[in-house]
Amino acid sequence: MTDPRTGRRLRTATVVAVAGGTLALLPLTGAFAGGGGSAHGGGGHGGGHADGHPRSVIFITGDGMGAAHREAARLDQVGFDGQLAMDSLPIAGLQTTDARDPEDTVTDSAAGASAWATGVKTYNGAISVDVDGEPLPTVGQQVEDAGLAGGIVTTAQVTDASPAAFFANSTDRAAQDDIARQYLERSRPEVVLGGGEDWWLPAGDEGTHPPRTGDTEDPEVSRSTQGDLVARAQAQGYEYVSTAEEFAAAGSGPLLGLFANEEMFQQRPEGQGDEFDPAVSLADMTTKALDVLSQDEDGFFLLVEEEAVDEMAHNDNGTRVLEAMRSLDAAVAVARAYVAEHPDTLLVVTGDHETGGLAIEDVDPEDESGPGGTLDPSIAGGTESGEDGPFAVAGTGGAHDFALDWTTTAHTGVPTVVTAEGPGSEDLTGYYPNTHLYDVVTSVLFG
Ligand SMILES: [Zn+2]
Repeated sequence: MTDPRTGRRLRTATVVAVAGGTLALLPLTGAFAGGGGSAHGGGGHGGGHADGHPRSVIFITGDGMGAAHREAARLDQVGFDGQLAMDSLPIAGLQTTDARDPEDTVTDSAAGASAWATGVKTYNGAISVDVDGEPLPTVGQQVEDAGLAGGIVTTAQVTDASPAAFFANSTDRAAQDDIARQYLERSRPEVVLGGGEDWWLPAGDEGTHPPRTGDTEDPEVSRSTQGDLVARAQAQGYEYVSTAEEFAAAGSGPLLGLFANEEMFQQRPEGQGDEFDPAVSLADMTTKALDVLSQDEDGFFLLVEEEAVDEMAHNDNGTRVLEAMRSLDAAVAVARAYVAEHPDTLLVVTGDHETGGLAIEDVDPEDESGPGGTLDPSIAGGTESGEDGPFAVAGTGGAHDFALDWTTTAHTGVPTVVTAEGPGSEDLTGYYPNTHLYDVVTSVLFG
């Protein structure tokens, strides 16, 4: 990375020290201190990796994706003898996800992603701060300091808990406008693609995506208390896009894309306004992010998240969960193709926790809410802790089907599956706490 004001290379001033597996940061470069200038580091060789051989990480999370979500998706998409892209990775392990919360045992996405991003367990709602509220160094900040590129791709708000924990610190996950401000002032990811325009524009400036005026519960109005952060991003050198057309025409420099006011979908029970048709697909956003990030010869860290797995599972909406899983696996296929061409890249596919207490069952009229179950929202209580289906097993010509049975509309504490390939992936076999992923990711990037 080169200081845009002096032209002096900065990377050598920001080497990270690793001792006993613990990563310590030396002082910041100040490469972008004072604002202005390009958001893009680019150029240079060697990255943060100690042997001068740059490596990259693509970290893909299906928010709320447990083993049952993956298996339901396999049956739905490829059938008994098929294999999803996410299941075709050569390494598999299981991670435990419990938080360190004063009240809860089961994690939320903020504490879960904080464990990945900092290696430290914390309370629910925390964005990479410890149990005392003290900020912790995050992978996204360390990437910036070491001269690598960083990227966010999500169907949630780009400032939602999972991406936020990798690139910001906050005692409150709800402070999304402040998290956006930190992206611009501190972690400066070169690619930010997803939803959440409402948090980048002040009240009264509705930008590209108008409020949902008919929706009194969730009107989706702009609410940044940090001013016009889109304009600030543009002043820092980001190209801003907010429609599929603009996205398709985007250049190869630093890129901010906000394609929805909040999530890029509408999470509701079946038939109650649920929508899953993102303006730009997760796979296309992933392709674009890799195009931009791979220009940095120092390596990169890219977070890819399909948020609808969790949000639709909170609504016990099996049909939409399966659609979200298709979206996610298509993005994994993009990442696998990239890794095939760039073997110095670690690819991880996992979920931060399980949502819904999901089980896969035979269709049985005697069992609980019965066959077909709750696709009819007029059944009292039917869409909560109910049963969805039947869904066909692909390739069986209708001979086999399955039901999805939910035990809760909340998160659960079952371990989640981790699959991986590339450098460091061999350390992801076994059964370990979610903080272990931090150790592996940082040793690949900086070790
Ligand atoms: Zn959730």
